[in-house]
Amino acid sequence: MKKLLSLLLFFIVLNLQLNAQHQKVKHVVLIGCDGLGAYALPDADMPELKKLMLNGAWSLQARSVLPSSSAVNWASMLMGAGPTVTGYTEWDSKTPEIPSAVKGPYNIFPGIFGILKQQKAGERSAVIYNWGGIGYLFERAAVDIIVHNNQSGGDFFADTAAIIIKTQKPTLTFLHLSEPDGVGHNIGHGTEAYYEELKRVDRRIGRVVNAIKEAGIENETIIIVTSDHGGKGKGHGGKSLDEIQIPWIISGVGIKRGHKINDIIITYDTAATIAYILGLKTPQPWRGKAVTDAFK
Ligand SMILES: [Zn+2]
Repeated sequence: MKKLLSLLLFFIVLNLQLNAQHQKVKHVVLIGCDGLGAYALPDADMPELKKLMLNGAWSLQARSVLPSSSAVNWASMLMGAGPTVTGYTEWDSKTPEIPSAVKGPYNIFPGIFGILKQQKAGERSAVIYNWGGIGYLFERAAVDIIVHNNQSGGDFFADTAAIIIKTQKPTLTFLHLSEPDGVGHNIGHGTEAYYEELKRVDRRIGRVVNAIKEAGIENETIIIVTSDHGGKGKGHGGKSLDEIQIPWIISGVGIKRGHKINDIIITYDTAATIAYILGLKTPQPWRGKAVTDAFK
């Protein structure tokens, strides 16, 4: 009986500690690097990203949904479910080709920004995106700050995200970067030019990491870096692992350090993990699961 009581007490204390850990997280920053194949990371000169891996938890075997195309996967990442449910099935889907299985209060399939606004109306969110196609895949009316234009390069979007993080400190920030996908299409995946571009992508990630530090919110922030798909030759959309396997890196308060994640991760687990961190209830149609192996 005594043993049972102390065991019970142990679990209660553990649970309190976990809750306390979660309460410390006030900000999530999601960086999506278009076309960053997991295959490239071992050879990539990306010190900022590798620092996040060293200080956080990571998988290089996370998977895109099929087809390994852009809008399909950004929709899945932000909407917590795959294309048969969300209805976004093409590389440039602006509206679902299959009617979404359900529509949320914002008149599209319910995504992470919608559930944040619904469940915690006072919390602010920001979306800064490089590729125009992103603009159709989240609930715009639920997002407080939206930045996009067709003229600027990746540095502008990284710098803008940095400024927003420092000045506005949103609860949820999503930064979409168009590279290295552009170089993958124009010159080729796995080429010297692709790896050169990765250095620039890494510097952009570094600017956001620095902004989190400069904002003084390092100890209450979790950062996730991932991608929509990899690539092969000058394209993607197919079924090879080079196209399907994406990096999934998470770092920050309450996250294991230097930990290779053993959980199977599919891109729609990203939305579910953010919901888990922010204490949001996930909608029934979601299929993603929180990547709990990443957490202490
Ligand atoms: Zn893409």
